[in-house]
Amino acid sequence: SLKKQAIIVGAGPCGLSAAIELERIGISCTVIERGNIVDAIYHYPTHQTFFSSANLLEIGDIPFICKDLKPRRQDALVYYREVVSRMNLDVKPFETVTSIDKEDGRFTVTSHHERHGTTVRTADYVVLATGYYGRPRNLDVPGEELPHVSHYFKEAHPYYRQRVIVIGGKNSAVDAAIELEKAGAHVTVLYRGDGYSPSVKPWVLPAFDSLVRHEKVRYELETEIVRIETDRVVYRQHGVEKSVAADHVLAMTGYLPDHGLFAESGVTIDDETGVPSFDEDTYETNVEGLFIAGVVAAGNDANKIFIENGRFHGKAIAETLRERNGVTS
Ligand code: FAD
Ligand code: NAP
Repeated sequence: SLKKQAIIVGAGPCGLSAAIELERIGISCTVIERGNIVDAIYHYPTHQTFFSSANLLEIGDIPFICKDLKPRRQDALVYYREVVSRMNLDVKPFETVTSIDKEDGRFTVTSHHERHGTTVRTADYVVLATGYYGRPRNLDVPGEELPHVSHYFKEAHPYYRQRVIVIGGKNSAVDAAIELEKAGAHVTVLYRGDGYSPSVKPWVLPAFDSLVRHEKVRYELETEIVRIETDRVVYRQHGVEKSVAADHVLAMTGYLPDHGLFAESGVTIDDETGVPSFDEDTYETNVEGLFIAGVVAAGNDANKIFIENGRFHGKAIAETLRERNGVTS
């Protein structure tokens, strides 16, 4: 062993991948996770099917065997649990990292557990792999905080015979609209675009288009949300203010990385793009020894990095540290 230690913040697929790759070059890793492993995937809609085939979600070169080409949420939960067990990763679940400080070349990482209180650990390196799913992109309109408004869709059943307004027009919005209609909800999608978003997966679009053409889902384009009231959503379309009755509002407007920890650790962040400053070859930030991995490297544009490519960041970090520490094999 190199007698070096790393702390990985976040046990998403990319944080876990980084832990495996660093352990492989002899750096012992502790992974600190706010929930339990792959918490973002756990919070996906229950019946979510990945758009990636199983082999593209693999980490640590451990095969992801799945009877279907594209795995479902449950298949991925089983897979990542198995990977953590096999690789014997040291994960500290239900601990939220609250601060990272650097002094004399070593990091001090403080975390908080609701019942066990505060823990302080030290490390030679830190990898921030905190993802984005915990922080929805708000509409910033009056009424967004009302209890019938949510940025997460789990399952369609509670919406049976309910009037549901879906806001947004990319994959989460379209997937939710299809599932809701199937379960007997009355669905209106309010989208700011002027057609179908090119981001919608090509194999999903025909099903949605069919619902729209047969008027089973109402699809209103070029809409701007003005406010949300207890029983309706008020929007502007082509300069005219309109409203639609709503029992529930699902704002599928995407997610943003939480940069609180970054800024506090001294990592500079581009105001406009939300991209932390880091070296694209090594994933090291402007703070020496502090790396990033996974979707956080994309800043506010979460569609650029996902599991398929973010899973390789750990390998790049390991390669850098291997050279820096003179590891030969
Ligand atoms: P995350 O998976 O978000 O993991 C970050 C982890 O850090 C979380 O577990 C979080 O709890 C933890 N954390 C955050 N802050 C702290 C803190 N302060 N202290 C401790 N822990 C912390 N991608 C694909 O490649 N293929 C797909 O088919 C696909 N399908 C998707 C379907 C849906 C519905 C959604 C929403 C996303 C999908 N994605 C897909 C995107 C994919 O989920 C993300 O790109 C991926 O989860 C990013 O991995 P990550 O490890 O960077 O971050
Ligand atoms: P997203 O891709 O960020 O899309 C957000 C949608 O909300 C877009 O249509 C956007 O409009 C709209 N929007 C954003 N801000 C708005 C505002 N202020 N007012 C009105 N509308 C606004 O989010 P997502 O669909 O939740 O997807 C998040 C991630 O999960 C992506 O990486 C995606 O690929 C992934 N995902 C995968 C699957 C799958 O595997 N099957 C399913 C769902 C999601 P514009 O179109 O104009 O930008």
